[in-house]
Amino acid sequence: MFWNKGSQAEERKDKKSWKKEQYWIAFAVLISLVIFFAALSFRFPISSIAGGRIEKKQAKITFALKEADQLYQAFYYDEALERLQQESDLITDDDSDPIVLKMEEIKKAKDALVKYEGPVHHVFFHSLIVYPQLAFDNVGHSAQGYNMWMTTVSEFKKMLPLLYERGYILYPLEACIEANPDKQGEVQLKDIYLPPGRIPLVISIDDVNYYDYMKPDGFANRLVLGKDGKIWTEVITPEGETVCTRDGDVMPILDDFVAENPGFSWRGAKGVMALTGYEGALGYRITDDLPEEAKWQEEVKAIADVMKENGWAFACHSYTHNSKWFREGKATLKQVIYDTDRWKEKIEPYIGKTEIYISPFGFSWKNDDPRYRYIIEKGGYHLFCPVGNSRKFILNGDNIVMPRINLDGYTMNVRPGEVDTYYFDVNQVISPERPSLNL
Ligand SMILES: [Zn+2]
Repeated sequence: MFWNKGSQAEERKDKKSWKKEQYWIAFAVLISLVIFFAALSFRFPISSIAGGRIEKKQAKITFALKEADQLYQAFYYDEALERLQQESDLITDDDSDPIVLKMEEIKKAKDALVKYEGPVHHVFFHSLIVYPQLAFDNVGHSAQGYNMWMTTVSEFKKMLPLLYERGYILYPLEACIEANPDKQGEVQLKDIYLPPGRIPLVISIDDVNYYDYMKPDGFANRLVLGKDGKIWTEVITPEGETVCTRDGDVMPILDDFVAENPGFSWRGAKGVMALTGYEGALGYRITDDLPEEAKWQEEVKAIADVMKENGWAFACHSYTHNSKWFREGKATLKQVIYDTDRWKEKIEPYIGKTEIYISPFGFSWKNDDPRYRYIIEKGGYHLFCPVGNSRKFILNGDNIVMPRINLDGYTMNVRPGEVDTYYFDVNQVISPERPSLNL
């Protein structure tokens, strides 16, 4: 529009036409808005917007229930309740509200926990035999030794569901003891609360070092940290191929079994890995001053950190595992000092401090033996685990002795009745690939 100051008539005319134009614009805008909202409600009907909100709320409830249930199944009662409490704004007054019902179920299970009065069972293994045909071929190390003191992968896999059926539940060994509040420097047994009928079980694995002499005999080569954040076993097949597997030793097998059966583990507890310093640790030669040592030390540390996060603990199994020193308990104090100090210097920095000492060859010494005193006091070990089937703890003031039972070819062959009484029917487990045991 053009504004002409010279003519008033024209000015009025222009004003009139300007007003008219304004009406038209307003009308057009109104029509556009009507069309826009009509289209919008056609695309997103009011009911669908409300429905979307309901669906979103339902998905939030389902997700919270799933997460809480995972915690609950692994016996993290308080954490499961906390997770549901985060969604308190979603809880309705309805008696059948799923969050309320789940919270009641969890509280009931928590209240039903009972103090466990029996012994904590502690069973142990060595690295598992992956290829029995190599372990029992008498080429390299004697088949008899492996037949007595080792367990095969297939046997271990068969034991786990049977132990679970009998009521066993993996329990953290270090949680069995606590500082004595009345006597400084002393430890005492800690009360254990479990669901009724459940029996605490500790599984330990000796010599998780992957010694060179065992490598050609069908055992894993080393542990490795996978890109998926899990610990895998590196295994060399009989054909000479190097592969990473989920069942080359106790660790990945137990990790996967607990992932599938969270009820088999109290709050994600797994087992205890007993390490010497002989030929390194976990399959890495970190104690021989080799050029790659620094890199391998980092790898051992990374693996240990992941394992500790996932319910595993570590134990000292002596540094040298020297048979002359420890098999018959003849070590001198000087040798014990060397052995104890060396483990703390060469292994502890990478796997971390531990309160557990698992004795090589299952030796045990008297509590006042100066060699034992050195291990306990200088090593800072409060749990000492020899081999024995008494299933009884000995309280020694600053340390508690907890014997362990080997579930290997020897025990399964020589004491099948005892194994059946406590753990499983040997016939359902023992590998037909084992040669007969000549004792
Ligand atoms: Zn050993």
